[in-house]
Amino acid sequence: MIAVMSKDATPHQIAHVQALLRQSGLDPVIGEFEGATLVITENEAPGAAGVLETATGVERVVDGQGAQQLTSRDFRSADSRVAVGGPDGAVLGGDGFVVIAGPCAVESQDQMTGVVDAVVAAGAAMLRGGAFKPRTSPYSFQGLGVAGLALLAEQRSRTGLPVVTEVVTPQDVERVAEESDMLQIGTRNMQNFALLREAGASGRPVLLKRGMAATIEEWLLAAEYLMHMGNGGVVLCERGIRSFDRSTRFTLDLSAVAEAKRRTHLPVVVDPSHSTGRPHLVGPMSLAAAACGADGLLIDVHTDARAALCDGAQALSGAQFADVMTRLRPVVEAVGRTL
Ligand code: PEP
Repeated sequence: MIAVMSKDATPHQIAHVQALLRQSGLDPVIGEFEGATLVITENEAPGAAGVLETATGVERVVDGQGAQQLTSRDFRSADSRVAVGGPDGAVLGGDGFVVIAGPCAVESQDQMTGVVDAVVAAGAAMLRGGAFKPRTSPYSFQGLGVAGLALLAEQRSRTGLPVVTEVVTPQDVERVAEESDMLQIGTRNMQNFALLREAGASGRPVLLKRGMAATIEEWLLAAEYLMHMGNGGVVLCERGIRSFDRSTRFTLDLSAVAEAKRRTHLPVVVDPSHSTGRPHLVGPMSLAAAACGADGLLIDVHTDARAALCDGAQALSGAQFADVMTRLRPVVEAVGRTL
């Protein structure tokens, strides 16, 4: 249950609402969304919503166990905009179509500089790169960890572009949040609730990938975990789901983009790299994603894909990425947005 306080609610009124919830046996936390204070509880208590509705300073009460609350269009009908990297950074969910690009994994300073130079020249608005890699096999490259974060941060200072990177454990959230502009929660961790809570409380925007076997509802409820910790900066990422056909790595579910945008005000981006696993499909799926209403893309690029330590088979070269960007522009403009 969430009590949305009016923007001019006093600290005393907010404390009173918290006290009312505690009297009902609930343990409220304070969040913030677009300048309004939210008093949030995980559980419901019979009659508590009615009591809150009459309390001074409460604008409305959002109630409904097990259902989307903060992420739903009922809570906010207009599209949310998520700013990443401060006033000069990127805005997801606005008029701009945001392309985030970089290697799957941060490998070295030379690799990062080469890839970043290529994607910046082609017009990427944000950089990506994994320092902590959640690999299927324990024998695969696990990422450079903290050293990788430093290499990514170096590219952020060099280019001025915001960076997104994955965090895989709750204990690493603070460190990753300090060294990046946006946290990524990967497909394998979409329902790691301890991680979602910690990332939600970090104050950093979060890119939440859809679990590879998650329904749209489960995905949106995972986003709800982030938002109910007071984090208004949630961006969803469709990255493909498991199906029977091995012709592609996963099956990119573009209908999920349109459906998620119908149900939620949160921005939705598409990862055509991890979903298809095939460089020749990244371009067509990027164009299709823009056409069906996505707010941006997350694309793997590597300047020497054959030597990549992670997912080289799906990475675009710098030239291929530049070509996708050129072909993307007219589609983005046709749907009334800018690249
Ligand atoms: C990634 O983007 O680096 C990644 C591992 O993606 P996913 O979680 O979608 O597999």
